[in-house]
Amino acid sequence: TCGICVEKCPFDAIEIINLPSELQDDPAHRYGENAFSLYGLPAPQEGQVTGILGPNGIGKTTAVRILAGELEPNLGRHEESPGWDEVLEAYRGTELQDYIADVRDGAVTVARKPQYVDQIPESFDGNTRELLERTDERGELDSLVSRLSIDPVMEQSIDDLSGGELQRVALAATLARDTDFYFLDEITPYLDIGQRVTAARLIRELAEEENRSMLVVEHDLAILDLLADTLHVAYGEPGAYGVITPPKSVRNGINEYLAGYLDNENMRIRPDPIEFEEHAPRTETHGDTLVEYPDLTKSYGDGEFALEVDGGAIRWNEVLGIVGPNGIGKSTFAKLLTGNLEPDSVAGSAESADLDLNLEISYKPQYVTIDQHMRVDAFLSSITDQFGSSYWNTEIAGPLQLERIMEQNLSDLSGGERQRVAIAACLSDSADLYLLDEPSAHLDVEQRVQATSAIRRYAEQQDATVLVIDHDIYMIDLLADRLMVFDGEPAVHGRAGTPQSMRDGMNEFLANLEVTFRRDERTSRPRINKPDSQLDRQQKSDGEYYYAP
Ligand code: ADP
Ligand code: ADP
Repeated sequence: TCGICVEKCPFDAIEIINLPSELQDDPAHRYGENAFSLYGLPAPQEGQVTGILGPNGIGKTTAVRILAGELEPNLGRHEESPGWDEVLEAYRGTELQDYIADVRDGAVTVARKPQYVDQIPESFDGNTRELLERTDERGELDSLVSRLSIDPVMEQSIDDLSGGELQRVALAATLARDTDFYFLDEITPYLDIGQRVTAARLIRELAEEENRSMLVVEHDLAILDLLADTLHVAYGEPGAYGVITPPKSVRNGINEYLAGYLDNENMRIRPDPIEFEEHAPRTETHGDTLVEYPDLTKSYGDGEFALEVDGGAIRWNEVLGIVGPNGIGKSTFAKLLTGNLEPDSVAGSAESADLDLNLEISYKPQYVTIDQHMRVDAFLSSITDQFGSSYWNTEIAGPLQLERIMEQNLSDLSGGERQRVAIAACLSDSADLYLLDEPSAHLDVEQRVQATSAIRRYAEQQDATVLVIDHDIYMIDLLADRLMVFDGEPAVHGRAGTPQSMRDGMNEFLANLEVTFRRDERTSRPRINKPDSQLDRQQKSDGEYYYAP
């Protein structure tokens, strides 16, 4: 127990073995009696990117709102607000003293990118150009628009933008402002890896070249690692209390988070560590083939988008990762396999364009649409008679954190809750092949690591064959035995390469992006090399983009 609840943690998300010393002090803010309390605050620094890493519901947004001057912290005294002067007194002698003095004096200017970009259309009528021109305070808009590839949608109404387009427009709008502090609440949702790297570089440049303070909440660990100079880890009991640690180096912060143990705080935040393998998985030379598919083509409309698939084989009991930019045909390929779409041509069958793989496929689409008026438990028990068994509870419901939402209606679920139910539903079905399109979407960092290990364990224990399309490189690294790489020109034409080894696949994929990774010495997790660093140049010249020798 954590000292707040008498019983075992009701959220089952985090095992807390001792009362953190921070909790003996007053919180920075408490929303009300028995309401959420936040302990500790992040400290933004000029010329630096400060990251916050932790699950949702732990107070990250509350902290950002305090630093943005939107929320006056009450130091735990929710009945009578102490006011900024007393808050300043409480932070005297800390790194935050000057910052809080400026907030009190109204001298801090802040630009903030909201977490849920999908809500932007509700508060803005007009097109992209109109939205962006209002924010162009540094005269850098043209460059932002070009680097974030926003040109094609400049005249488009904000209502008609896709998630990925909205995310890039919101980033441009925030970074175009001329303020002291920039708060970015998640930069990667809906973006592919190339776009994520670009966004990270733009944020770093603004910090380094213009000496601005950047505070970023992010759940994609590879990108957070690239982005941040220092990191605050946030832990606690989601919905009950959260603790924001003092700053750690970004390397140590992520390593400790993955290890499940925070060194300075002497705090275990997860029973098991997340472990990466250093080397590419061995390519099984004689893995049995589950299914072979021939060369395929598919185009939409009058050839607005054309996909060519190089035929290949999916091996029995492998996890095949699928990577490539947005708009390149990955979901189209998934729908061809499942039979939801008919190919235009199938090599070797001139007459009919039927692709009959003769397989039972359990498919989780990218956009999860389960929203019947039905409870989660009723829905899941209609899929599997394993529902509620101790195996199912341990392997599926536990890691996907379903207990808390079993009695809710599907139509009331948040994006992240719906995603977890959909992953559970996909894995619970009995099938020859499990196909998951973007399982990381809407999940926080802890849910991603839990979902990843649930999928991997399921594959191993049930001898299942799994295809996973995703942009989170840690998820792909932890899951995949082999890789399928898509390339081409997004929204124009795509080519799906045949499945290949992780080493060859990563080399092909990352060469297109001009990004190299090294391995962390302590944890073997992949880390993006600084562009043009010695390792980056060496690995590029060796052609080893991912598994440095
Ligand atoms: P995060 O950004 O880490 O997801 P938040 O700071 O948004 O976390 O929320 C932390 C907790 O505080 C949540 O349990 C949330 O329900 C609660 N909370 C947020 N705003 C309020 C509020 N105005 N009144 C009461 N509780 C709130
Ligand atoms: P990815 O999954 O790699 O992001 P998709 O397979 O979803 O790519 O889409 C590839 C391209 O095909 C995109 O340009 C998309 O807009 C277009 N597209 C997808 N579905 C349709 C459709 N039903 N009609 C017309 N165009 C489509």
